[in-house]
Amino acid sequence: MGSQEVSTADWQGKHVTVAGLGVSGIPAARALHERGALVTVVNDGDDERARAQAAELEALGITVRLGDGATLPPSTELVVTAPGWQPDKPLFLAAAEAGVDIWGDVELAWRLRGTNGRKAAPWLAVTGTNGKTTTVRMLASILQAAGLRTAAVGNIGVSLLDAVLGETEYDVLAVELSSYQLHWAPSLRAHSAAVLNLAPDHLDWHGSMEAYAADKGRVYEGNTVACVYNVADPATEELVREADVEEGCRAIGFTLGAPGPSQLGVVDGILVDRAFVKNRQKQAQELAEVSDVNPPAPHNIANALAAAALARAFGVEPAAVRDGLRNFRPDAHRIEHVADIDGVAYVDDSKATNTHATEASLAAYDSIVWIAGGLAKGATFDELVTGAAKRLRGVVLMGADRALIHEALTRHAPEVPVVDLDRTDTGAMSEAVEHAARLAQPGDTVLLAPACASMDMFTNYIKRGEAFADAVRARAEESA
Ligand code: ADP
Repeated sequence: MGSQEVSTADWQGKHVTVAGLGVSGIPAARALHERGALVTVVNDGDDERARAQAAELEALGITVRLGDGATLPPSTELVVTAPGWQPDKPLFLAAAEAGVDIWGDVELAWRLRGTNGRKAAPWLAVTGTNGKTTTVRMLASILQAAGLRTAAVGNIGVSLLDAVLGETEYDVLAVELSSYQLHWAPSLRAHSAAVLNLAPDHLDWHGSMEAYAADKGRVYEGNTVACVYNVADPATEELVREADVEEGCRAIGFTLGAPGPSQLGVVDGILVDRAFVKNRQKQAQELAEVSDVNPPAPHNIANALAAAALARAFGVEPAAVRDGLRNFRPDAHRIEHVADIDGVAYVDDSKATNTHATEASLAAYDSIVWIAGGLAKGATFDELVTGAAKRLRGVVLMGADRALIHEALTRHAPEVPVVDLDRTDTGAMSEAVEHAARLAQPGDTVLLAPACASMDMFTNYIKRGEAFADAVRARAEESA
């Protein structure tokens, strides 16, 4: 069965294998079952939680196979996978060999939109290595300010399938897409899309930078109005050039400098639009002030411009861009100020899970005690450390791959004192904060910006950020 043959109307009796119980797998299995498909869920894990979830699905008549996510059930006509599953898994190899299509949760949502009697809302899509969540939330805030019925969905905690098949009718969706989701979404066609930036990340999953970039670039395929790229990151513009878009779709750049024609940028502290105006050779439209962006750090102004570009592509008026940006509040653990103790600021950027994000947050402060480390995901740290060396008062390292960062520091910043924490228990973060406090001097910033994933020591970046904030608050109370 080729991908074009699976019409949304004829699920009846189709054998669909759903790979992975979880936030995307469970709603996918239910939705397909409700449409008459014969669903088998396969899952690697076989723990108590998986068994409870399996029991619920089995009660509906869905088959669940726990403890074996590798074998393809023989009658499978389509595989629907959780986005995080590695593409070289035996299940996928078997599917490819049998000529069976593999869809991710996004592809499924794209195919099923509009099948429940509600109108299929267009998607404004955002991807990139960093800034996706922030940009999508800014975009949703702008669209709301314009009076549109919208939601921030996708790789942001709200499943696309729920948004597409739920009770609420939307005018437009602000969609965050990860490179994993794009990998498995061959027929997705957004109204307009932005790639914010492109830096090495998740290379262990994609296999190479080229493969990672190619998956990100899919977001532009078939765009109808605008492909939004980052003028400061030529790789994003290259992806626009390579994309096959609808006739009339425009390439729109965003820049922190003065914008050229078909760009959005900044002039004298004002965000301006030279793309969606009548005469872009001569005219520019004021959208908002830099101080309307929260926080007005350079990378965040770039996010605001990208969000504004997508909103303008959808026809949103300038005043709504300004109001939406003013209403926006950043999420937790993203350059979040926790406390000031003895003249030292403590900042939680636990969400800086790769070197590109950490580079942006290290660039925001003059004198830093940096807390870093965790799972490197194949990254190298030489460039990051070289760029930040002059601003580092000291460094506290923790986590599985801390030696990689330590080696880079030895090579490029040998004079910076480093504390290497060789423990992974729950108390490790308190000790890290203690060392950092000892290294810091008044006026410094203690910055948790790990440049690594957290799963070696914590459930996720949220737990890591909370551990940091708890340790800082405990110190603040002691010193009060
Ligand atoms: P994502 O959803 O892509 O992970 P977030 O908005 O959650 O992005 O931000 C992730 C991290 O990247 C944060 O640590 C933030 O400080 C940093 N960041 C945000 N926007 C950018 C950007 N445009 N360029 C570089 N780093 C950024």
